[in-house]
Amino acid sequence: MNTQIAVVGGGPGGYAAAFLAADLGMDVTLVERDKNLGGVCLQRGCIPSKALLHVAKTIEEVAHLADWGVAFARPAIDPAAMRTRKEKVVATLCGGLEQLAAKRKVGMIRAQASLQDSRTLKLAAVGNDPAKHDRLRFEHCILATGSRPVRIPALDSPTGRVMDSTAALSLAEVPKRLLVVGGGYIGLELGSVYAALGSRVSVVELTGHLLPGVDRDLVRPLQRRLAGKFAAIHLETKVVALAEKGERIEVTLDGDLEQKTQHFDRLLVSVGRRPNSEELGLENTRAEVDERGFVAVDSRQRTAEATIWAIGDVAGEPMLAHKAAHQGKVAVEAIAGEASEFLPKAIPAVVFTDPEIAWAGLTETEAKQQGRKVEVARFPWAASGRAQAIGRTEGMTKWLIDPAGKRVVGCGIVGAGAGELIGEAVLAIELGAAVRDVIESIHPHPTLTETLAGAAEVHCGIATDVYRPKRNA
Ligand code: FAD
Repeated sequence: MNTQIAVVGGGPGGYAAAFLAADLGMDVTLVERDKNLGGVCLQRGCIPSKALLHVAKTIEEVAHLADWGVAFARPAIDPAAMRTRKEKVVATLCGGLEQLAAKRKVGMIRAQASLQDSRTLKLAAVGNDPAKHDRLRFEHCILATGSRPVRIPALDSPTGRVMDSTAALSLAEVPKRLLVVGGGYIGLELGSVYAALGSRVSVVELTGHLLPGVDRDLVRPLQRRLAGKFAAIHLETKVVALAEKGERIEVTLDGDLEQKTQHFDRLLVSVGRRPNSEELGLENTRAEVDERGFVAVDSRQRTAEATIWAIGDVAGEPMLAHKAAHQGKVAVEAIAGEASEFLPKAIPAVVFTDPEIAWAGLTETEAKQQGRKVEVARFPWAASGRAQAIGRTEGMTKWLIDPAGKRVVGCGIVGAGAGELIGEAVLAIELGAAVRDVIESIHPHPTLTETLAGAAEVHCGIATDVYRPKRNA
């Protein structure tokens, strides 16, 4: 079988690429080993986790109403009903993708693909589906094979009590005591879900910080709130041994804590993800991988083999769905002969905890590492009428500003709904807005978007809602 564009992997990178290629009039075939389109994001990542986090957030908001004199009874949790509702969301979106693919006449093959050479994919049958084709010849192939959770063999368990993020999202039960190994965004998001559903959640993190790499001033308000929700947060701590004893897991921890041996009903291991690049037959082509296993690409997403392109998680950090989709579009446009390149000024990242953390563009941590001078202006949400009205004054919005041109080059937000607010910052940074442009754009009142204008006003020393004495007054 022949095709002009072969796309391997039907996640947010792969289907975005395949759909755009079809829209541009190309003959496209998408090879996916799963039954459904959507990849990790839709089936085992972004969407199911956000569906469960929506439930967690609502439970907490309702509890918070007690401060306003409105008290509800403790919620009755039915995990089976939650599972069904979450699966319905996923199924609806998967079905939508299937229809969109069919309408665009994207050829679909269910198989495990690997490169035989620079023009041919070998297709192996998966599941009970017999392979309709065993070879697919292409002019261009876009690899969008994504990533999978890092496994720690010492923490494997035959009983299923040690979960990865996929198992945790399946919500088999709400354990009494859950240990989350890894204080990254996936561990904290899923830990928050289980804590809201009633688990006593403890977190162990190897480094000295939750969310390593994220600006500390953004993490602090989250860490304070999590300290009240989680049973324990152990930093600079690692799991050194694990033994299953009947229904319980005995865990030995190494760190600055009194009780080195602790018992849990389940563990969630979320210590990172690795690219799916090993079984792609790259050795049969000129395409290369870097030392972490990511497929090496140029700014147009092309590998060292001119006919092979790579996008999304398999092509490097940050491993985020919107980055995958954007790269997919760049690769297709480049194949179509357009001058597209993947050179964003701002890739947003959101941690969907409560409060949320979001950032885009340059971070203070990166500026420090690069020895780059930036001016930082912060707006405390205690000065926001909207934050006061909803009782969420712990938030903070900050801009990073280039001292020479006074352009905004980075933004960080911690607070309720930060993930919805960061979009404005992405646009401002990407369009090269000056800090004055942010001030001169009228923001609706009373909303949390005003905190973006407020932080810009703080930079110029003219913030209506924040008084800063003049330095030389
Ligand atoms: P994937 O979505 O991983 O899709 C790759 C596809 O390729 C899969 O369907 C796989 O079956 C298929 N495949 C692999 N190898 C082959 C082969 N050889 N042949 C055929 N098919 C193959 N990102 C966000 O932006 N926001 C979030 O809120 C967010 N939350 C997350 C929560 C969790 C719990 C997890 C685990 C991830 C989350 N992510 C989030 C990350 C996001 O899911 C990924 O960045 C995104 O799915 C990457 O898209 P992709 O297209 O590169 O690959």
